[in-house]
Amino acid sequence: MGSVQIVTTILAAAITAVAVWLAVRAVMKMTAVIRLGQPAPERFGDKGARTTKMLVETAGHTRMLKWSVVGAAHWFVMVGFIVLSLLVLEAYFEVVTPGGGLPIIGHWTVFGLVTEWIGILGLAGILVLMAIRLRNRPTRPGGLSRFTGSTMWQGYFVEWVVLLVLIFGFVIRGFKVATDHFEYPVWATPLSHAVGAALPAWSAGVSVAALIKIAISMTWLIVISLNVTMGVAWHRFLAFPNIFFKRDPAKPAGSGLGPLRPMTSQGKPLDFEEADPEKDQFGVAQVEQFTWKGLLDFSTCTECGRCQSQCPAWNTGKPLSPKLLVLSLRDHAYAKAPYLLAGGGKDLTGEEKGTQEQLAGVDVLAMAEADRPLIGTAEEGGVIDPDVLWSCTTCGACVEQCPVDIEHVDHIVDMRRYQVLIESSFPSEAGVMLRNLENKGNPWGAPQNTREDWTKGLEFEVPRVGEADDFEYLFWVGCAGAFEDRAKKTTRAVATLLHEAGVKFAILGEGETCSGDPARRIGNEFVFQMLAQQNVETLNEAFEGREKAKRKIVATCPHCFNTLGNEYGQLGGEFEVVHHTQLLAHLVATGKLTPVQPVDGGVTYHDPCYLGRHNRVFAPPREVLGDSIQGDLIEMPRNSERSFCCGAGGARMWMEEKIGKRINVDRVEEAMATGAKTVAVGCPFCSTMLNDGVNGKGAGEQVEVVDVASVLLRSVRPAGAPGDEKESEPVAG
Ligand code: SF4
Ligand code: SF4
Repeated sequence: MGSVQIVTTILAAAITAVAVWLAVRAVMKMTAVIRLGQPAPERFGDKGARTTKMLVETAGHTRMLKWSVVGAAHWFVMVGFIVLSLLVLEAYFEVVTPGGGLPIIGHWTVFGLVTEWIGILGLAGILVLMAIRLRNRPTRPGGLSRFTGSTMWQGYFVEWVVLLVLIFGFVIRGFKVATDHFEYPVWATPLSHAVGAALPAWSAGVSVAALIKIAISMTWLIVISLNVTMGVAWHRFLAFPNIFFKRDPAKPAGSGLGPLRPMTSQGKPLDFEEADPEKDQFGVAQVEQFTWKGLLDFSTCTECGRCQSQCPAWNTGKPLSPKLLVLSLRDHAYAKAPYLLAGGGKDLTGEEKGTQEQLAGVDVLAMAEADRPLIGTAEEGGVIDPDVLWSCTTCGACVEQCPVDIEHVDHIVDMRRYQVLIESSFPSEAGVMLRNLENKGNPWGAPQNTREDWTKGLEFEVPRVGEADDFEYLFWVGCAGAFEDRAKKTTRAVATLLHEAGVKFAILGEGETCSGDPARRIGNEFVFQMLAQQNVETLNEAFEGREKAKRKIVATCPHCFNTLGNEYGQLGGEFEVVHHTQLLAHLVATGKLTPVQPVDGGVTYHDPCYLGRHNRVFAPPREVLGDSIQGDLIEMPRNSERSFCCGAGGARMWMEEKIGKRINVDRVEEAMATGAKTVAVGCPFCSTMLNDGVNGKGAGEQVEVVDVASVLLRSVRPAGAPGDEKESEPVAG
């Protein structure tokens, strides 16, 4: 060992020792913070599916590859990080001796070849990512940046570290080539040989370059260890457990979508018959009341802003960005942690748990952070502004896009639950809807005895359950379908089509009440459970003696479809629920319904969030339309998984939209820009919102918003169906 190698070895060992010590301390701190969360025992089941999902999602970059260039570039950088970590390890041999290398594999040409090409592709990948970050920087003129609110220096720092580590990997190899210490052939390592040809035969070059590479890597480790909230770096480690512990690993994608988690206290579902707000946790009022998975979610956020770029609230000027919400919760959790870890915290009656002695050593900033209300305005020092909390439509675009499977909707609803159930604090206009649900069983407060009014004037009798026990499908009409004028047309169209196709169906009529979706999404789990239990009882009775496969329900409202199919199981109601577009697609495909006259004038389709993203029903409505219209369906730029919300979900239907541009107007403008004369929908709420948007723009004469079922009915029965007020008019053209 020469004198240069003695110095490089000592320096490499010193900086590594400091970095490792800080990293161990940081990992212990993060673990302690995450462990402050509430139990989530359900996250430990199904380990096989979890492992498979984690490997598939990370190795396949299943979310990010939808953003193809970014996804591909990030994939090479990720693989580069994992594989080229071996080269950082190798650098420790190279600081000791210029000819050093990893034992066994370090002398293998295949190792040289693989690392060479991963290095080259990693270089290309990181340059692409740097260019994308620069091009999308928040300070660029014009346009919304997905990086707005992200900590930009951290992103730049991480990218420069990756770039320099990769470059120095080739510089080390170049010096090895130049000093004749390199074993791999030119065909396997062309770039290393090219760099070597340009470098002098400096004998100490390998060890010095290896020391620089180690110093850069360890500086990175020191910086991230001193910044435990630096998700852009820590996600390299945290993404694995965060994906492993995702909500439902068996689901194909977006597993944080569909059903909401039941309310839990100490990891157990809350039973409202026995629950006591002084003993049981009702939603989330303090950051430590999220589960540990919630705290892991917040720690894992990479600040990439994909969620923000898709959020309808953010895109229409509301204060809600799912990214900024997650970052606020993360920063608050870590800032409050010293107080909590010292034994501080409020019990469920609001009393301080920590003793004076315990809290004596807690620094003043952590104590001040602990005093901030989780939900509150800027004047109140709140962590999350009420306008942020109530702007969410629960559309799920954020969850769908997040590459590390953060479950934003669950966290938002958990915070709403506390606000509604304990604080009675929510947009006042939604109070009418909740009162109507409690007193009348529907959000409009319509009399229950008018639930069957939509059947009047039909040319056939609509059977009720009990009158016709041999029904195949129970037709769940839903409150909108029964009481709202436009939705009633869809109900009548579906009933007519089912009748025409010879499907045996029956309705509950006055036995039906609201599915409970708006109550659950606004956070009133108590009202949801009341309505849901009543419906589960009614439905179990209607299907008595039938196995699950024969307990079939067809629903026209995606919110009912989601609630009945995905959430009633939490209350003992197991049913096979289909959306009407799925059943209609099947009836057309099997020849039970035959479209005869294509509807013309151009048709576009708006994916309802609770049908598409939440339940992945994308194809059936398109199939029905494809069979019913002239020419091809005209897709809007934002469609399918990336569809843009209508603005009504998350009980937003019953709240005023006071801030920014109206979401429905934004969506209608996109639909109208396609030039289509018909905007087909598959949800009564989308129908209302988009109709309002069209009318608001004074375009009611040029564009019609209509359900997929009505389009099909007009094609099946061009002469018109009784009861369809539009029956005598051609749809368009
Ligand atoms: S669910 Fe939709 S509205 Fe709510 S934060 Fe996510 S993207 Fe935004
Ligand atoms: S998409 Fe996920 S990782 Fe990216 S900013 Fe949003 S929450 Fe964070």
